[in-house]
Amino acid sequence: METKIIDGKQIAKEIRIELKHKVKELMAQGYPQPKLSVILVGNDPASETYVRNKIKACEKVGIESEQILMDASVSQETLLAEIRRLNEDPSVNGILVQLPLPKQIDVDAVIQTIDPAKDVDGFHIENVGSMTVGDGRGYIPCTPGGVIELLKRSGITIDGKQCVVVGRSNLVGKPAAILLLQENGTVTICHSHTKNLTEICQGADILVVAIGRAHFINGSQIKEGAAVIDVGINRTDAGLVGDVDTASCMGIAGAITPVPGGVGPMTIAMLMKNTMEAYQVQNHIA
Ligand code: NDP
Repeated sequence: METKIIDGKQIAKEIRIELKHKVKELMAQGYPQPKLSVILVGNDPASETYVRNKIKACEKVGIESEQILMDASVSQETLLAEIRRLNEDPSVNGILVQLPLPKQIDVDAVIQTIDPAKDVDGFHIENVGSMTVGDGRGYIPCTPGGVIELLKRSGITIDGKQCVVVGRSNLVGKPAAILLLQENGTVTICHSHTKNLTEICQGADILVVAIGRAHFINGSQIKEGAAVIDVGINRTDAGLVGDVDTASCMGIAGAITPVPGGVGPMTIAMLMKNTMEAYQVQNHIA
């Protein structure tokens, strides 16, 4: 079987182009430029790279971006005060606080302080609630949203399929499972206590892996023709690798995402999409 490589970079580019046209069109009608504010605390190199890529994506789409740098020793009160200031600023459509945060900061307090209408990461409990009940309001978290978008834009039907999600984090695994369920997949969630992981993965038409362990899933654990979505990003001596051993899946999987160049670029594209949604809602644009 020929395995199709799902080109997340290309699909993300298509989304950015669609959004760029939208920004241009709305600004031509007299609407203000959309704006995303990104708070980066400390100088973790991986976080700096993620933020840089988000700022670059804003530039490509035509979204104004603002980077707010805070010292790693910043107090929780100062950080929350900054978020409240951005909540009140009508020129700011989306707010993102880059995770992880230093130990002295209560991450949950930070997320819950962001105005849900500006929470373009989709982590606020109101947005999580909206996603879970599927009421169509609020923002879908970017990485799981990107997984669904990748499947759809690659022509992979979710409806009626056996979907297996390996990983149950609040940021990736759980929301990915909820979104697959809303697309009428039959969903199984696996985690570190799952007894017969290989057997369950072998039954998956769509396998989403988000555990954070380099090359944990290999070709012997997947079904012939399966769509394999590798969310993992692991820094190894050999560079960035996913949670799936892609090479061993070639010729077995029907389609697979590479790492890098699969889910990663989609996460940022979905952030741009959420920022545009926030902007449209805040400007009463249908
Ligand atoms: P977490 O560490 O929060 O969660 C990992 C999950 O994997 C947990 O649910 C854990 O189970 C499960 N797990 C760990 N080991 C095993 C195992 N041996 N068998 C089965 N399940 C296991 O990670 P995240 O969800 O935040 O991230 C997962 C990966 O995705 C990471 O590599 C991360 O870098 C990447 N990522 C990529 C993004 C992108 O844009 N491409 C964005 C966000 C994350 P349990 O709950 O039982 O502990």
